[in-house]
Amino acid sequence: MTPRPSSRFMECLQYAAHKHRDQRRKDPAQTPYVNHVINVSTILAVEACIEDEAVLMAAILHDVVEDTDATFADLEALFGADVCDLVREVTDDKSLEKQERKRLQIANAAKTSPRAKLIKLADKLDNLRDLLVNTPQGWTEERRELYFVWAKQVVDNLRGTNTNLELKLDEIFRQRGLL
Ligand code: NDP
Ligand code: ZN
Repeated sequence: MTPRPSSRFMECLQYAAHKHRDQRRKDPAQTPYVNHVINVSTILAVEACIEDEAVLMAAILHDVVEDTDATFADLEALFGADVCDLVREVTDDKSLEKQERKRLQIANAAKTSPRAKLIKLADKLDNLRDLLVNTPQGWTEERRELYFVWAKQVVDNLRGTNTNLELKLDEIFRQRGLL
């Protein structure tokens, strides 16, 4: 029988699309924000062959607490503790200074659970693919370059998680002269 998306997964997509509805990415085309979270979940399903539904759902929800009014309590009530805990692991603490958040992403990467590491790798892969072809609005070339350097430091602390994703990330770092 052909596998079909579960109702839970569809509800998750609908919820993310609703919560991110007024947000745009930073690329010049101002792509709808939800495209990014769909990309991250699709990278996991198609390129990393992940079948763990909670991971695919958490990928869809990975920026919803960081960037919208959604709370962890909302996610737990709607999608359960497992999905909520995965999203918690990949959510930055927005009460901290940006530089500190960036530092903590590097410092905390290795302590993350293997399932949350998958989401972090796919998130970086999608952002870096975008940065290869676009410079976000208002960014200098130097800032774009520093993002690759910073992302590599995060990825280096997530290694040993998924060969396919790590090979694809390394190909990007090689193209940028970082490997
Ligand atoms: P930002 O956090 O400001 O921007 C990058 C984030 O924006 C991504 O992680 C992604 O987060 C989101 N995003 C939205 N649209 C896009 C897109 N089209 N392509 C890629 N990402 C997108 O990063 P910073 O530039 O602040 O930090 C990166 C590094 O650069 C750090 O090491 C920082 O110190 C350094 N730097 C920062 C400067 C600054 O002015 N802030 C200046 C020079 C260097 P998500 O997946 O969560 O949506
Ligand atoms: Zn993201």
